[in-house]
Amino acid sequence: MILTSKAAVVTGSTGGIGLAVARGLAKEGADIVLNGFGSPEAIEKARAGIEAEFGVRAIHSPADMTKPAEIAEMIAMAEKEFGRVDVLVNNAGIQFVSPVEDFPVEKWDAILAINLSSAFHTIRAAVPGMKSRGFGRIINIASAHSIVASPFKSAYVAAKHGLVGMTKSVALEVAGQGITANCISPGYVWTPLVESQIPDTMKARGLTKEQVIEDVLLKAQPTKEFVTVEQVAAIVTFLCSEAATQITGANLSVDGGWTAQ
Ligand code: NAD
Repeated sequence: MILTSKAAVVTGSTGGIGLAVARGLAKEGADIVLNGFGSPEAIEKARAGIEAEFGVRAIHSPADMTKPAEIAEMIAMAEKEFGRVDVLVNNAGIQFVSPVEDFPVEKWDAILAINLSSAFHTIRAAVPGMKSRGFGRIINIASAHSIVASPFKSAYVAAKHGLVGMTKSVALEVAGQGITANCISPGYVWTPLVESQIPDTMKARGLTKEQVIEDVLLKAQPTKEFVTVEQVAAIVTFLCSEAATQITGANLSVDGGWTAQ
């Protein structure tokens, strides 16, 4: 176990990729701060499940990633409860799709706040403690859309490109102090969110489930296979390992060849 006696904060970890990442870090011995929205029952099930399965402590912060004061409180709570934040995974993210001239201003602001600015707020709060302990792993979940664009996703693409740029700056600032900062950029990941879009798309386009998966969802992904949440989690864990000490300022693609085209 590589993270015994260490603590991790994973934003947006009440479901999807974030929960798998939190579970992967807990399996390596880290105490966990879960964050995100959901029913109190579902959040408690995820939290208690991590404690029972992996023998670590897990707490939930309801901090809203659009609110800098709540983000600062979340990091302060982690440091108070666990005495440290060694691993910070900025994963919370939302999407909205619209032509740029119709893009609702409040959706633009929300995407930039959650998908980009929240990472700035967590990093600026967590870095002083990481520096004082001489160890830190900052891992930002970007997207294939940090490298290439798709139409109608101006806010998401802007935020994810920005996240990669900020990560490089931070990596340079903390280099040589035991802290690394990297992005992971998944293509399409099989999550409940993706799965739930299939019936509507089948109906709207008159396609079979297989056609929706191959011709719509995985159109850009040459392997024609989804990335799994466990595969993303495994890369997060690898970036926390000794072997990854010299990986910093990188943007690791996990996209079935999407951005190789
Ligand atoms: P998801 O919708 O399943 O989970 C998002 C999480 O963020 C949830 O826990 C939700 O409660 C939380 N969240 C949303 N708004 C929040 C807010 N204001 N404050 C705090 N928490 C908030 O999403 P996912 O598919 O697991 O995506 C996770 C990350 O991975 C995102 O950054 C996304 O852009 C990125 N990503 C996803 C895919 C994919 O195919 N699913 C591909 C590439 C990148």
